[in-house]
Amino acid sequence: MSENKGWRSETMAVHAGEAIDPATLASSPNLVMSVNFAPETLTGFSARDEKDYGGFVYGRVSSPTVKQLEDKLAALEGGEMALAFASGVAAAHALICGRLSAGDHLVLPEANYVGIAELARDTLPRFGIAVSYVDLNDLQAVADAIRPNTRMLWLETPANPTMKVCDIAALAELAHRKGVRDVAVDSTYATPIATQPLRLGADFVIHSLTKYIGGHGDAMGGAVIGRSKDLDALNLEASVHFGGVMSPFNAWLILRGAGTLPIRMRAHQEAAFAVAKFLEAHPAVTRVFYPGLASHPQHEIAKRQMRNFSGMMTFQTRAPGPQIAARMIRELEVIHYAVSLGHLRSLICWIGTDDIQQSTFRHDAAALARYRDFAGDGVFRLSVGIENGEDLIADLARVLG
Ligand SMILES: *Cc1c(COP(=O)(O)O)cnc(C)c1O
Repeated sequence: MSENKGWRSETMAVHAGEAIDPATLASSPNLVMSVNFAPETLTGFSARDEKDYGGFVYGRVSSPTVKQLEDKLAALEGGEMALAFASGVAAAHALICGRLSAGDHLVLPEANYVGIAELARDTLPRFGIAVSYVDLNDLQAVADAIRPNTRMLWLETPANPTMKVCDIAALAELAHRKGVRDVAVDSTYATPIATQPLRLGADFVIHSLTKYIGGHGDAMGGAVIGRSKDLDALNLEASVHFGGVMSPFNAWLILRGAGTLPIRMRAHQEAAFAVAKFLEAHPAVTRVFYPGLASHPQHEIAKRQMRNFSGMMTFQTRAPGPQIAARMIRELEVIHYAVSLGHLRSLICWIGTDDIQQSTFRHDAAALARYRDFAGDGVFRLSVGIENGEDLIADLARVLG
């Protein structure tokens, strides 16, 4: 169970899930790498038997440092329980394959994180799980996509890479009213500092901890947060049988990163606002999508649903993207031209529409038109770090010409 002592998010980020170690009186979380533990009473051999035993037995079921991170995440999201996995994609795979079976139907956004989009397109159908893709900003299209066997609606907001924001409360209400059991939200871009999807009616939240929550670009991880009864079952199947659990070392690093999440998110937002306004006014830039700007098509939803607009944005340029990208690789001094996001370092990369269509989305004509509406021939995905906004602006000004 997560702690709920009425703490604000800044206090929870530091203290939730942590306790002074009774054995050593250590104030900071201990890193416990042991994979097995010597029980004080006789337990059965299977993970199912361990469930009735309060302590730790084997690392694939649960272990102390990972558990501290899980408890912190549950508290930050206002959920009952969290489970950590080796990566964000491992968390998504655990949730989808732990909850759905052959014959079930999943509704997914028509553009979302590539790893999950490719899992849905290339792998799930092989196991008899049907998938439909919808524009989450078209509630009628979502309603029409729901079938009697639809067991899960997957949301991602703001979405990678389109920056589209969807209305979690409205979509969760619609899905549940139409009999969909699970509404899952990939909230990696928003973080619990901006949005708490469980409070808006979602059943599960998924994070890539590799991004903002870890925040330092030095550890991969993922998590699912939700109700204890659902996550206890998921623990027995997904953690124990799929096996993609988090290393205690990564949990320790991410635990350390999570303590500063609220103040980092404030710094990300401050620098991102400055950069977004600069880009919007720059003659070489044709479009900017940042949920904090009035020009964002879902700015009204973002204002309602996000307490922090985060550090993610996309922009498009008048000159061909690959040409500017080549210049960025050579000339950027502060921002790293690299994939990933949510780190304290600013990161930028070019995502060409033809490339991502071929590798991942393979949209039909109508969906492609909607994708191009946000992405044109491609977007620069910029993850604004916690550097000074003026230094980032100077870096970008040089390569934009
Ligand atoms: C990166 C990312 C993931 C996948 O996380 P990994 O830790 O890289 O496996 C999932 N969703 C979103 C929105 C992401 O940005």
